[in-house]
Amino acid sequence: MKPEFIQCDFCKTNIKLDKCEFAAYRTTIDGKEYVFCCAHCAKQYKEQRKKKTKK
Ligand SMILES: [Zn+2]
Repeated sequence: MKPEFIQCDFCKTNIKLDKCEFAAYRTTIDGKEYVFCCAHCAKQYKEQRKKKTKK
């Protein structure tokens, strides 16, 4: 098995998924799953998204 890497959707940090895939912070926004390196990035991403989306 080769080590698997995922990327933080906000800061693009590589997150290694060697032992525990729950090391990354996952959240679902509007039915789509996003992966972040930490809760902070998830929060920043949501706020950035909110600004971009105008209704
Ligand atoms: Zn991040």
